[in-house]
Amino acid sequence: MKHTRIYLYSFLVLLFSGCSHQLSQQQFYVFGTLVGVSIWGLPTQQANEAINVITKDLHLMHHQWHAWNPSPLTDLNQAIAAGQMGTLPDPVVLQKAKNFYTQSDGLFNPAIGQLINLWGFHQDDLSDNQALPSPEKIADLVALSPNMDDIDIEGNHISSHNRAVQLDFGAFAKGYAIDLAMNKLRQLGVQNAIINAGGNLKIIGQKGEAPWVIGIRHPSGTGILAAVAVSGEESVITSGNYERFREYQGVRYSHIIDPRNGMPAQGLTSVTVIARSGALADAASTALTIAGLKHWHRIARQMGIKYVMLVDEAGTVYVNPKMAERVQFPSDKKPRIIVSAPLN
Ligand code: ADP
Ligand code: MG
Repeated sequence: MKHTRIYLYSFLVLLFSGCSHQLSQQQFYVFGTLVGVSIWGLPTQQANEAINVITKDLHLMHHQWHAWNPSPLTDLNQAIAAGQMGTLPDPVVLQKAKNFYTQSDGLFNPAIGQLINLWGFHQDDLSDNQALPSPEKIADLVALSPNMDDIDIEGNHISSHNRAVQLDFGAFAKGYAIDLAMNKLRQLGVQNAIINAGGNLKIIGQKGEAPWVIGIRHPSGTGILAAVAVSGEESVITSGNYERFREYQGVRYSHIIDPRNGMPAQGLTSVTVIARSGALADAASTALTIAGLKHWHRIARQMGIKYVMLVDEAGTVYVNPKMAERVQFPSDKKPRIIVSAPLN
């Protein structure tokens, strides 16, 4: 896993080589992943100070939304489980989650924290070959139907009439965090930047005269599947089953859980969404992974997504026509590509 990250980062560094005099870069570890920030066209000291500010911000957000280490979110979850009222430092995050829940027909459902925990994903190290949860336990939790409509927000007061609700923002926290961090960079005078949180990436501006060029990871876990040029304000977010998964008796179980049956999503190995908002692109990439080849198109339209690329287990790539115009595949490793009907 670490090698993949190093490979991806070296690839990006290579893309930038030749212009390093204008490029300030730092890497740090937060949100359980390596985060790289690159700023173009500012004096090094100013760029580094700006990166230091968002490094602190990202650590704070990671703490506030942590789903299992003691955090404001776990405090809220305890209050909900006890049938009491709770709070969050930034309740806007909940309103966003509610909207994405509705737009995705409930496939993006950050109220299923108990199911995610049941599958053993509320821990940092997933390499212990832990036994699978029993079908009865899964069915019991699914029957309680925890969802975002159960939650009421009144000002700073948050409550749920369903005590089975347990919030887990893992599917969109990184996307939202890079939105907020990018806003902060702008306030600090940055006009051209990339924030890459382990494959969840947001850019503003461009790299000198040229757009930023992003590598999208190959779902095999090594190398780059495709490259895409981005500029203005865009987020490129990939959900994949190659990074966080559990393996039991040779079978791989994704950390993306289908709220309808409580089972790990199957069928797609990687889903990339490009959108202005990182939070939206992140929530959508998770929802489309569950929607699968049959329903992704409808869910993407409902969520207002304009660019999607999906990869199935056979390695076939599916793109909408506008995405097809943007992605570039290495000429020696071109996959089978199927272009869908337009999204809009
Ligand atoms: P990554 O963190 O690798 O970018 P995702 O954005 O797809 O991957 O988020 C997966 C995480 O989202 C899981 O680890 C879990 O915390 C949470 N999650 C799993 N299934 C769902 C779901 N159906 N709706 C919302 N959140 C989910
Ligand atoms: Mg996501």
